[in-house]
Amino acid sequence: MQHEFSHTVIREAYELSQHRCQCTDPNCPHHSDDEGRCRQILRWTAQDELARDGWRAVHIEPTGPGTIGNCQVLCSHCYEHAVATSRSTEPIAERRRLALATAGS
Ligand SMILES: [Zn+2]
Ligand SMILES: [Zn+2]
Repeated sequence: MQHEFSHTVIREAYELSQHRCQCTDPNCPHHSDDEGRCRQILRWTAQDELARDGWRAVHIEPTGPGTIGNCQVLCSHCYEHAVATSRSTEPIAERRRLALATAGS
């Protein structure tokens, strides 16, 4: 069961990220930084948008709580990569839901 983040938590995570993508996946192809981090600047009003500075609040631990300690912000590119590699929680939850939906029929 996925625990949704409250708006307060999302806002806090966004502030804590200093408005930058927090992706540290070494396999993520979008990182040009020397430290292997993304650092894409995120626009607050672009949450859930696919814009260059769009972003998502995602769970660090998929089954963890919807708290600030379990929340990170990813730019739309890194989010898509996370979805593609099933590293992120949302696609896993999505897949589980689909599996459940097909299992019953
Ligand atoms: Zn990123
Ligand atoms: Zn990334």
